[in-house]
Amino acid sequence: MKKYLTTDEWCIIEDGFNPANHRSSESIFSLGNGKMGQRANFEEQYSGPSLQGSYIAGIYYPDKTRVGWWKNGYPEYFAKVLNSPNYIGIDVTIDGEMLNLYICKVSEFRRVLNMKEGHLSRSFKAELPSGKIIEVKTQRFLSMADTETAAIRYSVTPINFSGTITFVPYIDGGVVNTDSNYDEAFWNILEMDVKGGQASLVAQTKKLDFRVAFSMRYKTSISGNEPVLRPELIKKEAWVGNRVSINCQQGTTVTIEKYIGVCSTLNYSADKLRAAADTQAEKAIGKGFDTMLREHVAVWAGKWRHSDIKIEGDVEAQQAIRFNIFQLNQTYTGEDDRLNVGPKGFTGEKYGGTTYWDTEAYCIPFFVSTADPKVTRQLLIYRYKHLERAIENAQKLGFSGGAALYPMVTINGEECHNEWEITFEEIHRNGAIAFAIHNYLRHTLDYKYLEEYGLEVLIGIARFWSQRITFSEERGKYVMLGVTGPNEYENNVNNNWYTNRLANWCMRYTAQCIAKVKTDNPQAWQRISQKTHFSDTEIERWHDINERMHYPFNEKLNIFMQQDGYMDKEQLTAAELPASERPINQHWSWDRILRSCFIKQADTLQGIYLFEDEFDTDTIARHFDFYEPRTVHESSLSPCVHAILAARIGRTDKAYEMYLRTSRLDLDDYNSEAHEGLHITSMAGTWMSIVEGFGGKRVYNGKLFLNPIIPEQWQSYTFTITFRGHDIDVIVDAKGTTIKQRGNGQLSLSVYGQECTIGDGEALFVKKN
Ligand code: BGC
Repeated sequence: MKKYLTTDEWCIIEDGFNPANHRSSESIFSLGNGKMGQRANFEEQYSGPSLQGSYIAGIYYPDKTRVGWWKNGYPEYFAKVLNSPNYIGIDVTIDGEMLNLYICKVSEFRRVLNMKEGHLSRSFKAELPSGKIIEVKTQRFLSMADTETAAIRYSVTPINFSGTITFVPYIDGGVVNTDSNYDEAFWNILEMDVKGGQASLVAQTKKLDFRVAFSMRYKTSISGNEPVLRPELIKKEAWVGNRVSINCQQGTTVTIEKYIGVCSTLNYSADKLRAAADTQAEKAIGKGFDTMLREHVAVWAGKWRHSDIKIEGDVEAQQAIRFNIFQLNQTYTGEDDRLNVGPKGFTGEKYGGTTYWDTEAYCIPFFVSTADPKVTRQLLIYRYKHLERAIENAQKLGFSGGAALYPMVTINGEECHNEWEITFEEIHRNGAIAFAIHNYLRHTLDYKYLEEYGLEVLIGIARFWSQRITFSEERGKYVMLGVTGPNEYENNVNNNWYTNRLANWCMRYTAQCIAKVKTDNPQAWQRISQKTHFSDTEIERWHDINERMHYPFNEKLNIFMQQDGYMDKEQLTAAELPASERPINQHWSWDRILRSCFIKQADTLQGIYLFEDEFDTDTIARHFDFYEPRTVHESSLSPCVHAILAARIGRTDKAYEMYLRTSRLDLDDYNSEAHEGLHITSMAGTWMSIVEGFGGKRVYNGKLFLNPIIPEQWQSYTFTITFRGHDIDVIVDAKGTTIKQRGNGQLSLSVYGQECTIGDGEALFVKKN
């Protein structure tokens, strides 16, 4: 754990510069706007430890798989998010001396990520090796209003001298991915152009020929006036820029504003690309920094109106939850159904790919309750568009008849993962996709989506399960052999309760959805059944599996077992593990981990969470008390599920402990890995811990339920959710809950078990019983 950031309700603040923290800060202070994102690299040169990282959503590289021992069925390529050309760079020299904080004496350093307004700023004084002291102020953002533009303002004031300040704004295409399998460069540079006041570079990804054009404009000012410049035009290998020098009196501020247009062939044809980026850059410089910023802040204001959570009485918790919400909103905006939410978002390279089950199991609960339904719909359509590939993927593994197995990791629908125990066995991801469709429909009633897209996906998934599940003559039951559940610390187990439970739910739910579409829109059903060659006998098999499925159960403990052999393991609790051996994945051999009873992340409890309405409080508590102590929470996706269930069974302290673990995971760098990038998808879990955990928000049988509790550390908290066209503010304190709602007529819901009806624009207080 590393605590070096200053606490604040709306900002992440780093006071004082410590190069040892810089790589973590580069992650934590990252910026994004859904279309592109970047780590908080310095604009000027920096020779200390740093991970240069800019990423363009949807632009990837199929890096040839590298594995020790090839297994049939492995994918040939691993699609990686690409580090894109660096477009923020501005070299700064003072009388010929390069500004580089690693070799300067730095004082009054302050880095601020303003989450309310979505910008990053920095201020500091630097004493150069020559003894010259300058004061620097910078600010930048990736516009949420004009999503193909970025703007940077960079000011320098000489403190103890008068001299020449030189700026070199540039675009650098000579970047690499540190996680390249074969140390290849992933970009070709197709075109570079430089003129006074501008430069552009068009880069092309190798193999797939994605193209991205970067175009920059800049202007300078000194004491509010634009100086006459004689820019030197520079073109080097994969690098293009201008050099401008300005004479500056002691105490006078010189400023450069750099505007960048970034356009890709995801949205433009190759022949129009360069012009498009030029137009964006021109538009940006035409508007100017302040106007652009105002428009950007207005978009953020809209996002916060729908997704903010206010916590009174606990600034650390307040800062943390806003940080989580901010990062999610800047990673995914729902404008493009080809994009998704990667576990590291735009903050690092680790994990490659972009899409894991994290999206459906964690991010969708967040977006479906805080954003326009269109946002979640796009995430679901993303999977619809990959259905054919999921069917091909299943075929490669020996399934047939339209069975679909979605990949564990993907960008374009193809599997990117290549560890047999995950690629072939961690198949529960298929269920999360089906469950997300259910989650979307119960929140939005958008049955058009089901007819147009969702039902085909459900059928493919249900078919996969019905083939993957086999009949055991010995047991006289259906079984599912050789799987990995969410707990990746057990592989190739038989009858993982979570997977069995979810698979059966998928088949039941698909049958229900088929019946609904048949009744509501027979024409749509005709189209779908023809397209999928559906036969009603398939449903008969699904029913039979449902009737006769085996679920491991321990009579003595009266709980479901994570898998058939779980109780054969030596039963220990995580509390018995010496601190020096944790995390076990860094201290134990893999074989020892697999044989142990220790659970990486919620597994049986993940299932209890999904189907919680089917269990009474005692049953949930029994399972929680058995599994939580055996869980080492070595996935960031784990504590949130435990926080929700702890709150459900009235263990507020435990829920709070788990909440803290998830909410400040990156800010306090619990796992010493913030330098690699942030845990973007688990941030949605943090939101879930508050809204579904403390807030007790559920949707069952078409109805919204709230059952709020409040940790004693908080005076009150407020969250906003959207549900079937209603915007609902929920304000909770120790006495009770106030609900305000806007839109779509009356809202009926249950609060603390009481039935309530609230009119549009009305508020209601419900006393805690
Ligand atoms: C977790 C998976 C998760 C992945 C990406 C792994 O450590 O065990 O459940 O999908 O990280 O977040």
